[in-house]
Amino acid sequence: MSPRSVVIVGAGMAGLATAWFLQEAGVEVTVVDRRGVAAGASWGNAGWLTPALSVPLPEPGALKLGLRRLLSSSSPLYIPPRPDPRLARFLLAFTRNCTQQRWQVAMATLASLNRRALSAYDELAAGGVAEPTHTGDGCLIAFTSEGARAPLVAELEAVRAAGQEVGYDLLTGAEARELEPALAVRVAAAVRLHGQRHLNPGAYVAALADAVRDRGGKIVTGVEVSRVRDLGSGVAALTSDGTSVRADAAVLASGAWLGRLAAPFGVRTAVQSGRGYSFTVAAEGLPTRPTYFAERRVVCTPLGERVRVAGMMEFTAPDRPADPRRVDAIVEAARDLLPSADLAHRADVWAGPRPCTADGLPLIGPTRSPRVHVCGGHGMWGIALGPVSGKLLAESIVTGRPAAELAAVHPLR
Ligand SMILES: Cc1cc2nc3c(=O)[nH]c(=O)nc-3n(C[C@H](O)[C@H](O)[C@H](O)COP(=O)(O)OP(=O)(O)OC[C@H]3O[C@@H](n4cnc5c(N)ncnc54)[C@H](O)[C@@H]3O)c2cc1C
Repeated sequence: MSPRSVVIVGAGMAGLATAWFLQEAGVEVTVVDRRGVAAGASWGNAGWLTPALSVPLPEPGALKLGLRRLLSSSSPLYIPPRPDPRLARFLLAFTRNCTQQRWQVAMATLASLNRRALSAYDELAAGGVAEPTHTGDGCLIAFTSEGARAPLVAELEAVRAAGQEVGYDLLTGAEARELEPALAVRVAAAVRLHGQRHLNPGAYVAALADAVRDRGGKIVTGVEVSRVRDLGSGVAALTSDGTSVRADAAVLASGAWLGRLAAPFGVRTAVQSGRGYSFTVAAEGLPTRPTYFAERRVVCTPLGERVRVAGMMEFTAPDRPADPRRVDAIVEAARDLLPSADLAHRADVWAGPRPCTADGLPLIGPTRSPRVHVCGGHGMWGIALGPVSGKLLAESIVTGRPAAELAAVHPLR
């Protein structure tokens, strides 16, 4: 039977998009968040809606680039050196997935979501979500040599081979500087990607929450869900204030915190927090379009008068205090590529946990309970893929027929 009411745990992009698309089918929704709207990874991220770059994180190159530098605190991929058996298991599984063959299989799955990612945003816009997404004049990926650019070009071709439309130009350093004079002379090659978008993630998720409320949904903040119970004829989300929210079904969309609530329902895939950091600076001396310095893993996103600078992947618990050295490392990595930027006067300093899985695929669909569903584990790409995931999950919940695109991202895999 189609549920008439659903409680959703987590008011990030995944939870709110699912809530909005459930409302499209007339379902009554209550979203519960332990802190507030966009209190997890969905606020200070880079806001790139770039399906062309949305690829599985475990790739053969990740081992070469990442694991050998893991323990250096200035490395873009960092693991704090303390014993953590769960993290060790995650890394082992992640490493096993870093083969070309597994990457291709996972890519085919992501491609089926990527192809519909931007049209899900168009539906949200047509349905009244007030914050815009920006198309702009292409985003730029800058490199210090043509050799350093080659793996990205190969990856874009692999994404195209997986059935996605990918439009791009190869630029020399001088051509890239003509578009973006802020780039240092050491930028020697670039890729300009077409047909992608970006947004201000905090503002967008707030607008999505407003739309959910305007359509009669409830958003309860400052209340943690400690456990979800399947009551046979419905569910109860037990909360930290001693009350419970009852509904016909539940969706767990609690980002990097997903494991604890989902494990009792048979979800064995670990969701590991891959924490990133960001800050904003005045826009002067920075690129006017979204720009990624791939070798340094630093990304810049224009947000009106300011530009967000983001980076780092720190595999650590989501609630550990933020480490200011990570921000220094981003500044150091960006400094010689953006010589006229004022990186000293920073605001909005932020850390947020990417919900990463070892196979690089999200978890979207039902659990062992037909009344408890999951939407999460999108890693680097939960903003781009949140709406399409919420849409497909909502349709599956309402019709009782899982969407074909969700077969390979089943939470019980
Ligand atoms: C630096 C950085 C840059 C990024 N750039 C991009 C990008 O350019 N494009 C892109 O697509 N993605 C990007 N991402 C990834 C993206 O931010 C995440 O994939 C996405 O935000 C995950 O959304 P979510 O809703 O699953 O989780 P979250 O946004 O983390 O939401 C989970 C929510 O659940 C709540 N919660 C947790 N446990 C409980 C509980 N027990 N009870 C109640 N509430 C609970 C939390 O408070 C939180 O609000 C980036 C991430 C980082 C860190």
